[in-house]
Amino acid sequence: MHYMFDNIFNTMKKILITGGRLIEYILTGESDFHLYSADGEIYEKVTDIYKAREVLKGMREYLVGKFGMEIKSPVIIELYSGDEFNLKGIWLQLKGVKGQYHYENLGKNGMAHMIYLKKGMNKKKFKAILAHELTHAFLRDQELMNCDRFFREGFARWVEYKTLIDLGLLEEADKIKHIKTWKRGKAVEEIFKIEKKVGISGIMKALRKT
Ligand SMILES: [Zn+2]
Repeated sequence: MHYMFDNIFNTMKKILITGGRLIEYILTGESDFHLYSADGEIYEKVTDIYKAREVLKGMREYLVGKFGMEIKSPVIIELYSGDEFNLKGIWLQLKGVKGQYHYENLGKNGMAHMIYLKKGMNKKKFKAILAHELTHAFLRDQELMNCDRFFREGFARWVEYKTLIDLGLLEEADKIKHIKTWKRGKAVEEIFKIEKKVGISGIMKALRKT
């Protein structure tokens, strides 16, 4: 009995999500850009590389759709647990860190964007951090904001904020709006101000002129 109820519930949930997408598509014509997802994602943890790669694919599509962020060089994702990551001579100290981005030379395969994420995060949180690290990859890929570390970080935070909002994690998003470290806080604040004036597409255009 319980099982049957669960099944009906899941089917209903699926219909609601699909229906939502359809309505959204009719209204905006851009359903793929959004991250509407079943709330199970709050509990679903990303524990293996296959799941991580699947999320990566979705997030890349989301970033292209929403911000026009196309990344040309390969993006490679790695999961770590504990405080460090160690593989083929790459050694990272990751204590207290949920994600990290590096641009690395993979020998004859050329340069690649490496993204390291903590194993076992819930799927939504994972998506938001991944969006942040992918933003760093995008900036590097397009050689944007080369000289301004704080602005790069502020911009990545802003994208993370937008992702959190689309995922419905409003409280988490709000934390980004209130970052206290003054240089970072200032950079994020600055981007929110620009966004108010010119919108997302305006920011992306301005970015390409820097
Ligand atoms: Zn960052």
